[in-house]
Amino acid sequence: MPPIDKPTPGEKYDIVFIGGGSGGSAGSRRAALYKAKVALIEEAGKLGGTCVNVGCVPKKIMWHAADLAEKARFAREGYHFDISEPKFSWKDFKPQRDAYIRKLNGIYDSNVNKEGVIYHHGRASLNSASEVEITRPDGSKYSIHADHVVVATGGYPTVPSDDEIPGASLGITSDGFFDLEDQPKRVAVAGAGYIAVELAGVLHTLGSETHLLIRGDKVLRTFDPSLQDVLTPWMEKTGVNIHKQTKVTRVEGQRGDLTVYLTDGSSIKVEQLIWAIGRTASTDNLGLEQLGVKLDQKRNIVVNEWQETDVKGIYALGDVAGKALLTPVAIAAARRLSNRLFGGPKFKEDKLVYENIPTVVFSHPPIGTVGLTEPEAREKYGDAVKIYKSNFRALFFSMVPEEHKEPTMYKLIVVGEEERVVGVHIIGMGSDEVMQGFGVAVKMGACKKDLDDTVAIHPTSAEELVTLR
Ligand code: FAD
Ligand code: NDP
Repeated sequence: MPPIDKPTPGEKYDIVFIGGGSGGSAGSRRAALYKAKVALIEEAGKLGGTCVNVGCVPKKIMWHAADLAEKARFAREGYHFDISEPKFSWKDFKPQRDAYIRKLNGIYDSNVNKEGVIYHHGRASLNSASEVEITRPDGSKYSIHADHVVVATGGYPTVPSDDEIPGASLGITSDGFFDLEDQPKRVAVAGAGYIAVELAGVLHTLGSETHLLIRGDKVLRTFDPSLQDVLTPWMEKTGVNIHKQTKVTRVEGQRGDLTVYLTDGSSIKVEQLIWAIGRTASTDNLGLEQLGVKLDQKRNIVVNEWQETDVKGIYALGDVAGKALLTPVAIAAARRLSNRLFGGPKFKEDKLVYENIPTVVFSHPPIGTVGLTEPEAREKYGDAVKIYKSNFRALFFSMVPEEHKEPTMYKLIVVGEEERVVGVHIIGMGSDEVMQGFGVAVKMGACKKDLDDTVAIHPTSAEELVTLR
């Protein structure tokens, strides 16, 4: 169902969610389940937010395409399948991917409708803690009122200004990546985090000449060092051109034919430059500061453990709150807030605990991680930290030529005599699927002995985590 056509100005709701992404959609539906009167405001004209439209979903589909290309090569070169070099048609694949995303948008629409959420199409801003103004696409405005207002406006990719880096605006971002109608033959990706690694991995694996421009020596600097040490050289070995200790100084040309100049004095010619250097919270023009809602230095909304801002009745969650920018985090925080506000005494204390959140980087091979990194564990627990680690090749690669044998590294970080597991960091084929179960174990406070007491599943890579010595 589309957004409401004829909204009633001045209508009073129990709760208003601003932003129809992961957090806003989930939270509004949960509140409506408790029979609260709920409004959801989205400016984009489609629900699902970053994750559905320009994030997790289209990204994972592209990762699957890249994974298939790799597997097809292994099938040919290692497993004696009589198939030719796989050729990927980005041009034909993109419309199919877009159609699937549109289908998801429709599912989001019907889901909020089914729960009785009133969906408003327009840009929201706050006039007071209980009055939200909506500017519709045609420019007309109206206001609605609510006891609780939740800001779940997400964020957008950060791009340096042209003053900072002349020509920076010639680059695109992850949003632009998903708009590309055809595969660039040569591409540069600036950044060293999740998005840079994932997009560079997809592009390279699908056959683009890929340059990754990083400020340091390794990718994923905030992740456990062992993961960085495995992934960075492996990406290089497979042919990603990693330019280290470098930054872009200027960009010249036009999209499709760019020259990117670097601090080391070199330059590269590419069709596209993708900025993947972090995201900025969408907190502009919401009227937050005027109401006294506190923002941090990066303009994320400051909230307490209950997702409450400094202003009573105004809450924030998901990416706009700047902590663990992940879809399941936005969803969990939103559902728990709605539980707490409308779910009765059972949920009086419900809130998201931002510890031990498992996460995956869809690199090639993928990474799974939960808990503390080794430096974090050592800082917190000192000498009580013990590391169990194994580097090995998954059985799958036994049939694959030496140069294509992907690395696998599994690492457990445990503390104290009871050897409580405080970190699990894994890289290797299937790590994306392996991680979830170990996320449960860490959340439950598992100790090394619990893993040892679990009978292995053989032959798998995952069994290594219950047999580490
Ligand atoms: P969003 O989903 O960004 O939704 C915010 C919504 O608010 C948007 O629809 C926006 O249009 C709307 N809005 C903004 N301002 C206003 C306003 N004033 N009025 C009305 N509406 C407004 N996370 C994972 O867990 N796994 C992944 O694999 C993953 N991959 C990603 C890949 C990429 C390329 C990117 C960019 C992100 C990825 N993420 C991933 C992160 C994930 O997408 C976000 O953490 C998640 O979408 C955050 O949800 P949210 O509800 O906070 O914000
Ligand atoms: P990240 O914060 O993950 O990484 C950005 C990286 O870019 C930094 O780590 C930094 O690395 C580098 N960087 C920052 N500023 C500059 C600069 N001026 N010039 C060059 N490099 C710079 O942000 P992303 O944009 O990759 O992703 C945003 C968030 O979205 C992620 O943090 C994650 O939470 C979420 N996401 C989740 C995914 C998943 O779950 N699989 C996938 C994609 C995104 P360094 O300091 O080493 O230079």
